[in-house]
Amino acid sequence: METILIWQREIWATLMQKQNLRCHALLLKGRKGTGKLSFARLLAQSLLCIKPNTGHFACGQCASCHWFVCQTHPNFTMITPESMAETCNTQIKRINHSKSDSLASHNKERPVNNKPAKSRLGQQISIDQIRGLDDFVFLTGHQEGYKIVLIYPAEAMNNAAASALLKKLEEPPEQTLFILVAHQFQHVLPTIRSRCQQVTMPVPEAEEAVRWMMQRCFMPPEFGKPGESQKLQDPQHAHMLLALSGYSPLYALSLQGEIEEYQQFIGAIGEPERFDPMALSQVLQNQDLSVTVHWLQKWCYDLISFSVAGRIRYHLHWKAQISRLSKQVNPRACMNYLRFLNSRQLLSRHPVNNRLFLEEIFIHYEKLLVSASSVPDFPAG
Ligand SMILES: [Zn+2]
Repeated sequence: METILIWQREIWATLMQKQNLRCHALLLKGRKGTGKLSFARLLAQSLLCIKPNTGHFACGQCASCHWFVCQTHPNFTMITPESMAETCNTQIKRINHSKSDSLASHNKERPVNNKPAKSRLGQQISIDQIRGLDDFVFLTGHQEGYKIVLIYPAEAMNNAAASALLKKLEEPPEQTLFILVAHQFQHVLPTIRSRCQQVTMPVPEAEEAVRWMMQRCFMPPEFGKPGESQKLQDPQHAHMLLALSGYSPLYALSLQGEIEEYQQFIGAIGEPERFDPMALSQVLQNQDLSVTVHWLQKWCYDLISFSVAGRIRYHLHWKAQISRLSKQVNPRACMNYLRFLNSRQLLSRHPVNNRLFLEEIFIHYEKLLVSASSVPDFPAG
């Protein structure tokens, strides 16, 4: 059975003490990869549990808990984009069959995957999914008590879906709790936000996160390779993963499975004299495009950050390369290139020719590498 993450204990106790959950909609907002979904599911299970314990945690023994674990609870439903549904279901099964508390929940929050086909599935929560809740709320269910709708991530609702949800929140059904989980709450409709009790989910300090990471076994086989299913042994390595993840410990753990590719990527883009856009495009053409763009976004962020403030957020272990490159790259050009990447991040989720897509971003990166002498233009969004 899942247990609460150590950095979430306080917020759990606060919510429970104040009986704050008598609202009809809750918005859990915070950084991706910090365990919000895990928390939301624990909350749902505890509210549905027939005999919660003194800490207000689900007992894990009653019929309700059994249904919840088997994903058959008639009073609980979870709405996710089509592209996440399979991952979420797989991970939920793993949670329920694992004594490890939160690796699985991390993977649900994992922002990327390496399978190109999945990225083309629906990335949004549709109006039909929200309309489909009517049957759940009004027709089905078991006995009395809460019905709980978990929406993850809330910012994935398209405009029509968000409007449909807003109507439900304006006239909330009795005994129904909507739990919205958002990584980027600013992308949730303001009128929806204002109807929710908003909870800012905590993020652990770096040292606490590393301690937690080193106590965990790395298990997700779909993210790792044979031989990688082992505990983190080296705190420095854990720190490196944590920084690369943007200080999201659950996400950081999953990076173990792709760290080799990541290091090769940094090797390829970190040395201007060896940079070959065409060769790199070929190497990466089968990887999820959004992953590649995300890597490059983080790299450019650090180039800018180091140029203007001498700070590195993500690539702590590549200071020498960042320092050297930052002298060759014009920060303003890098800012423009980052904007260009942001526009390509959106495009990466549409059907495109992977090879051409990558060649374009890498050819422009090549221009960026010599931008100290002449500032290039990059395509607008
Ligand atoms: Zn129970």
